[in-house]
Amino acid sequence: MANTKWVYDFGGGASDGDASMKNLLGGKGANLAEMASLGLPVPPGFTITTALCTAYYDLGRKYPEELDAQLETSLKTLEAKAGKEFGSATNPLLVSVRSGARASMPGMMDTVLNLGLNDTTAEGLAQLSGDRRFAYDSYRRFIQMYSNVVLNITHDVFEDILEDFKDLQGYELDTDMQAEDWQEVIVKYKAAVVTHNNGKPFPEDPKDQLWGAIGAVFGSWMNDRAIFYRKHNDIPASWGTAVNVQSMVFGNMGDTSATGVAFTRDPGTGENLFYGEYLINAQGEDVVAGIRTPAPISKARAAEMGSDDAPLEVTMPDVYKQLTDVADKLEKHYRDMQDIEFTVEEGKLYMLQTRNGKRTAQAALAMAVEMCKEGLITENEAVLRLEPAQLDQLLHPMIDQDAKAAATAEGRVFVKGLPASPGAAIGKIVFDSDEAADAAAKGEDVILIRIETSPEDIHGMHASKAIVTARGGMTSHAAVVARGMGRPCVCGAGSLRINKELGEVSVAGETLKRGDIVTVDGATGEVFKGRVAMIEPDLSGDFAHIMEWADKARTLSVRTNAETPADVEVAKNFGAEGIGLCRTEHMFFDADRIPVVRAMILASSEKGRKEALEKLLPMQRSDFEAIFRIMGDKPCNIRLLDPPLHEFMPHSDEEMADVAKGSGVSIEVLTHRASELHESNPMLGHRGCRLGVTYPEIYEMQARAIFEAAVNVAKETGVAPVPEVMIPLVATKAEVALMKARIVKMAEAVLPKSDIKIDYLVGTMIELPRAALRAADIAQEAEFFSFGTNDLTQTTLGISRDDAARFLGDYEKQGIYEKDPFVTLDIEGVGELVQMGTERGRSVKPDLKIGICGEHGGDPASIAFCHKLGMSYVSCSPYRVPVARLAAAHAALKA
Ligand code: PEP
Ligand code: MG
Repeated sequence: MANTKWVYDFGGGASDGDASMKNLLGGKGANLAEMASLGLPVPPGFTITTALCTAYYDLGRKYPEELDAQLETSLKTLEAKAGKEFGSATNPLLVSVRSGARASMPGMMDTVLNLGLNDTTAEGLAQLSGDRRFAYDSYRRFIQMYSNVVLNITHDVFEDILEDFKDLQGYELDTDMQAEDWQEVIVKYKAAVVTHNNGKPFPEDPKDQLWGAIGAVFGSWMNDRAIFYRKHNDIPASWGTAVNVQSMVFGNMGDTSATGVAFTRDPGTGENLFYGEYLINAQGEDVVAGIRTPAPISKARAAEMGSDDAPLEVTMPDVYKQLTDVADKLEKHYRDMQDIEFTVEEGKLYMLQTRNGKRTAQAALAMAVEMCKEGLITENEAVLRLEPAQLDQLLHPMIDQDAKAAATAEGRVFVKGLPASPGAAIGKIVFDSDEAADAAAKGEDVILIRIETSPEDIHGMHASKAIVTARGGMTSHAAVVARGMGRPCVCGAGSLRINKELGEVSVAGETLKRGDIVTVDGATGEVFKGRVAMIEPDLSGDFAHIMEWADKARTLSVRTNAETPADVEVAKNFGAEGIGLCRTEHMFFDADRIPVVRAMILASSEKGRKEALEKLLPMQRSDFEAIFRIMGDKPCNIRLLDPPLHEFMPHSDEEMADVAKGSGVSIEVLTHRASELHESNPMLGHRGCRLGVTYPEIYEMQARAIFEAAVNVAKETGVAPVPEVMIPLVATKAEVALMKARIVKMAEAVLPKSDIKIDYLVGTMIELPRAALRAADIAQEAEFFSFGTNDLTQTTLGISRDDAARFLGDYEKQGIYEKDPFVTLDIEGVGELVQMGTERGRSVKPDLKIGICGEHGGDPASIAFCHKLGMSYVSCSPYRVPVARLAAAHAALKA
């Protein structure tokens, strides 16, 4: 460690780092260095590395020895660059201390501004700036922020002191406070610090302040909200955060100063329009915190929003011009939409941050396609710009315009705010994040309505279908976080009056109560009373372009798990290239079929069973015909019956009576038979191919239905269907051999009736550990494998898939499994069996067709793994097909 460089300088003409060093310097630090090197106006500073954060925790929250000397050197360099001195009575250097992880974690960690102020330097600042009020206002802000972040004293302590003081003076606003007033308040603040900090005074020495703030930022890497955010955004704890110490610039030095946030394109829609918000005479965090609602930057946007506030383009035209030039330069340099933070100090522009901007799925899509058309990025890069998980948002319903017009005409618009994050949602009103989380845990859809949100609300925002706030702009916490999560959000709905205690929210005399239903349209900023109908999304245009490029890039095929014609149709429209799993037992749940299925299961003789099967045959045949018709010449994998029997048992007397009526068997006999069939552990019981072993006639009927349907459809359409018959839950080669022989015999009896040649395959699921282990044997019989990773996870982990929800949450919380292994493949464990099965199967048949049809087939991380193993296809539920196509492309492009 002794030679490790822990501190990197930036700005003032020389930077140690650059944008490629994000892992070490964090996003903010790396980009500050890069911007400074590009010649942009960046206040100088230095970055303490993420590696130090890791070392700090490894050493039990202690710093490596050599940090002290390195920090001292960088501080000296900074003083020289800034032409100011830390702690000077006449020319004091003030700094900001901010976190900056590899991946942006907006608002999750701590920040301290105006650091370096004490009684002496505050007076120095007053002299230097010629503005005593500003100097002492900054000083009191610093005491409050530092005490909160570093000393853990709540804001209330300071706010109460200030309110009492103002009351006594008869002041209404903070702006009524004069420099002398702030000085008096500062004395009271410091006394309060002693009281709330175990008798210890506020640190006067700027160096002590600096170490305190650095410790707090590193400490905030492990605060609850940062941990929560990391978990939901797949950010490993081992990455750590960097700390950026930067010379302060002041956006709060009067009307020629300002601070703002801008996006080089619209992060909500993707439109190529410079977009941002600013506040005159405000300090850095004010825009993000949503304390005041900021004004738009450009005239165009102000007009579009009907804003009365003067845009920056009008109030500071030169700065605006300079800012748009910087934005252009940054976008061309980074070849992506940038999210920038800037401050104007007495008419001079400073850049405080740039990063690739967070965006909605809709915006990501629109920008990727447009940037590709502009020649800024390639098709493959465009594909990589859209996260597969994000795509989900585009595949979900939006508000139906006709229904909306009707709702508007009926006077059901409750309030209109800013369209902060698109998409629509319906739910019950809640006013509190804990309440939102509790309700969501019970399966309720809720809409969180808040004055504003803060990082403490993150779990409530996650639990809600949409978020509505009364305060804050398009770059407020609520807006940024909601967009990242893909939650519809309306913010800055200023006419909302929220009374959390009474559980009421009102607008102009109209009141809604906790639990009332509202519909939120994040695309327009409207909130409607009651429900407004939704429609399916549009999958043409940009969506179709990206999908076409993704299809060119991927090597994995994407199929679907579907059995009803409606689902098969949806999946085909979403681009499914075949059926990877048709669960035939699902076709038996129909009200008119289930009594026959039950009669078949409960039959005590082969004769009784055959009678029931005779009735089922035409039903199955017509099901398969419908599927073959839709899928044409695409492969259709049909799995023979695999029901854990308990799922089909009659539960009530009424159901039993139905079966008796249909089968002509008495209730007594049926009841006796049902008790005979009772299993203690049906998931490991008489299911899968074990049914086929005991009752050959069931699989024979199904095979007949499949092949007859294929013949009929071939005749009807002239296109030969491609059936793949799949045997479930095998453990041995012998099971496959036995089943396969019967299926082939049926095919040989039926298929010659077709004029067109019908090719078919007989293969098996690999969903038991033994099957994966003995895959080489099994491959001698099977013509394809499909990994049933639901059962394979269940049987490998020994965790019942039906009961896992009760305790897996605790496992995730305690980091035993990072993710639910039924959602994302447990690559180390279950994945090893999948890999072994694939390799062993292909050792016998190098071209063996191999797919996956467990739930993992629609999960991007699991798809990447399947790609790596060289599988032929993944199969997932219809709505996930586009996600899987994109994830397969990402896997190929990142390989
Ligand atoms: C599986 O086990 O992964 C599978 C696809 O089959 P099912 O979920 O029907 O048991
Ligand atoms: Mg299974």
